[in-house]
Amino acid sequence: MSKDFSLNKVEVALTPLERFEEYLQSRGMRNTDQRRILVELVFSQHDHFDADALLDKLPRKGHSGYVSRPTVYRTLSEFVDAGLLRKFELDGRAVYEHDYGYPQHDHLYCQQCQRLFEFQSSQLVTLRDQVARKHQFHVMGHRLIISGICESCYRARRKRVRRKQDRI
Ligand SMILES: [Zn+2]
Ligand SMILES: [Zn+2]
Repeated sequence: MSKDFSLNKVEVALTPLERFEEYLQSRGMRNTDQRRILVELVFSQHDHFDADALLDKLPRKGHSGYVSRPTVYRTLSEFVDAGLLRKFELDGRAVYEHDYGYPQHDHLYCQQCQRLFEFQSSQLVTLRDQVARKHQFHVMGHRLIISGICESCYRARRKRVRRKQDRI
């Protein structure tokens, strides 16, 4: 998936690892090597990823740094619970991205190349709040994904169509 995210990070007091340790402590849980490996890997760069993509980045079984599939799944839900990650559905898959230290934003999703493009819109947030107020609804957050075709896929498609027409 796309890696060219242009949004600025939000200042936060704790590192993701410190924040996660606080969360574990509050639940009487201990930090483990596997959890530490996953925090470091997940927070090394901002990305949208699913559990399989994360598993692909981990060392194979028998190598140091190996984390089993069930542990990856369990730890991902701990990250969501701790407010480190946000989870959303995309084409029936569970996708994760940074929440802690990253600003609220929305996505454009290209159905052709499956890239996600991030954007922020204050007008959208204003509209959301207006709609909520009208329904006496207390907003906790929102998730908007605009589906379609990105500029480069659109151009590539036009080129193909033109080439086809030239042949006729
Ligand atoms: Zn595309
Ligand atoms: Zn995003």
